[in-house]
Amino acid sequence: MFGVIDGTGFETLHDDFNACFIGHARVERLWTGARWSEGPVWFAAGRYLLWSDIPNNRIMRYDDTDGAVSTFRQPSNNSNGHTVDRAGRLVSCEHLTRRVTRTEHDGTITVLADSYQGKRLNSPNDVVVKSDGSIWFTDPSYGILMDYEGDRAESEIGACHVYRIDGDTGAMTIVADDYMKPNGLAFSPDESLLYIADTGVTHDADGPAHIRNHTVNGDTISGGDVLADCTAGVFDGFRVDRAGRIWTSAADGVHCLSPQGDLIGKIHIPELVANVCFGGPKLNRLFICGTTSLYAVYLNVNGVSPV
Ligand code: MG
Repeated sequence: MFGVIDGTGFETLHDDFNACFIGHARVERLWTGARWSEGPVWFAAGRYLLWSDIPNNRIMRYDDTDGAVSTFRQPSNNSNGHTVDRAGRLVSCEHLTRRVTRTEHDGTITVLADSYQGKRLNSPNDVVVKSDGSIWFTDPSYGILMDYEGDRAESEIGACHVYRIDGDTGAMTIVADDYMKPNGLAFSPDESLLYIADTGVTHDADGPAHIRNHTVNGDTISGGDVLADCTAGVFDGFRVDRAGRIWTSAADGVHCLSPQGDLIGKIHIPELVANVCFGGPKLNRLFICGTTSLYAVYLNVNGVSPV
């Protein structure tokens, strides 16, 4: 169905990576035609994947039953990162409206967060839901720095934080305030750790391009040592597999980090990668948002359950 795509392939940097991929599995380009692909999220019950095409102000939908791709929502308010909550509902970060929303089962949209202490958020970027129903998201300023992925505006908060929304009360708290550009985030399989990327180098040559590792203490986090520095571009978005490895975007494709943060291998992609997610009935297929295209590859690992 799909030919071999030039510029793709596995690169082993540590022997541990050899067990993670299938030698004859190939990267497939499922679709192309986006301007900036981001925020993939898998819906197991419906066997489809949604992802954002941020500059084109739309959410796309890949149907795993027949390979069809269609526009799921347009305008999308320049949506960026997505996840699914424990009830299977879509949770979305929106640049244009500077908010985090939930799409209910009846299709209506609930605003979960759009301000903190009376000041508008910058432009929520990526989001994850914990098993207790709390929603954790990053709020860098990418969506208000220019008109390409939102509306240019000044930051009202004046900083870029990581927030937690309580699943029961809706109360919002800052969980990390020492990031330059907090971006992708994910919990370890047992939720004892929270990994958060900082992509500050995009607007400050001396800024960070790394993932930090926090200890989760119920509603708060501590620690925050650097787990891994990116060796090609930035770590934008990432997911964790059941063995605790981190599969993260980078400029040359997907980097696989051991739980200790060591780069053990790569999946080369011929476009800059922004984000990934596990999907398919067994969560053993990695979907990859690479600039204009949606890619996928079957792996010999399984993602942490998305719901
Ligand atoms: Mg991002």
